[in-house]
Amino acid sequence: MRDRKILVTGGAGYIGSHTCMVLKHRGFEPVVYDNLSNGHAAFVKWGLLEEGDIRDRSRIEEVLRKHQPEAVIHFAGLIEVSESVRDPLSFYEVNVAGSLSLLSACIAAGVDKFVFSSTCATYGIPRQLLIDEGHVQDPVNPYGRTKLLIERAILDLEVHGLRSVILRYFNAGGADPGGKIGEKHDPETHAIPLAIDTVLGRRELFRIFGNDYNTRDGTCVRDYIHVLDLADAHVRAVDYLLADNPSDQFNLGTGRGTTVGELVAAVEKATGRPLPKQEDQRRPGDVPQLVANNAKAQSVLGWQPVYELEDIIRTAWDWHRKQNT
Ligand code: UDP
Repeated sequence: MRDRKILVTGGAGYIGSHTCMVLKHRGFEPVVYDNLSNGHAAFVKWGLLEEGDIRDRSRIEEVLRKHQPEAVIHFAGLIEVSESVRDPLSFYEVNVAGSLSLLSACIAAGVDKFVFSSTCATYGIPRQLLIDEGHVQDPVNPYGRTKLLIERAILDLEVHGLRSVILRYFNAGGADPGGKIGEKHDPETHAIPLAIDTVLGRRELFRIFGNDYNTRDGTCVRDYIHVLDLADAHVRAVDYLLADNPSDQFNLGTGRGTTVGELVAAVEKATGRPLPKQEDQRRPGDVPQLVANNAKAQSVLGWQPVYELEDIIRTAWDWHRKQNT
């Protein structure tokens, strides 16, 4: 019997580390490939760490040949939309050139099952209320464009026998309820950790970016999904590929939209404390509303998100309260 290794690029990061935890619980052996630029060595608790950069083609191939994983889950990349607007070149270098180097190493090493961490930002401005996988992909920021380029490359590489599952996440949030790992970005830009840090008094104010969008309270609508629901979907995607199913793409969201205003109220309710806040300008690159139609992931992968917004905030709150900074 093989040892069921899965190579997880970016496995020391937020979603990657939670996925390693769930992989391990389901009998897989995660091997983390991460350069620790944004990841944390302390988050690698469920498998070994092979330090390396995805742009280092020969290092990845060496690691793939050494471990001969049954599949690769590819999280490594730059993720922050506004940074992608300021510094697009880094995004093309890491997300596009890095992913191509990884893909080429996979093909050379005979690894033919690939799960890709993509994003609802590949859709751009939604043309319907709930976004399904057939929605036109017309991203409005460099982050989304780099992810879309890789999606296309992955599909083209099927000619070399590469089978893939592309997972397009909506807004990840929350943390391991066991408290071992959580969300930790430096600098932090995401709404939930920023709001919690503000409640904790580590920041003065939570800024609400834009109050004049065409939404129910004028603030942006997002579909917040618990990181463990995302992790569960990745393990299902691996099982799906190991069962010889064809390449496919899935949206991962709850199907429920929350405005920034509603998020603020939910943070105050879940923490029992007031959130000092201030209305501010729109943030460049933001789209008004992003909510998933997740019917396909439910029917094909048998995936069903189980955590509510309240659980996302509560688990994030538990995690952030334990952190010193
Ligand atoms: N947001 C905000 N204040 C903040 C951070 C985020 O109002 O300090 C808003 C942001 O404009 C977006 C939503 O919260 O509408 C989620 O932003 P986040 O950065 O968490 O995720 P994104 O949707 O950009 O991937």
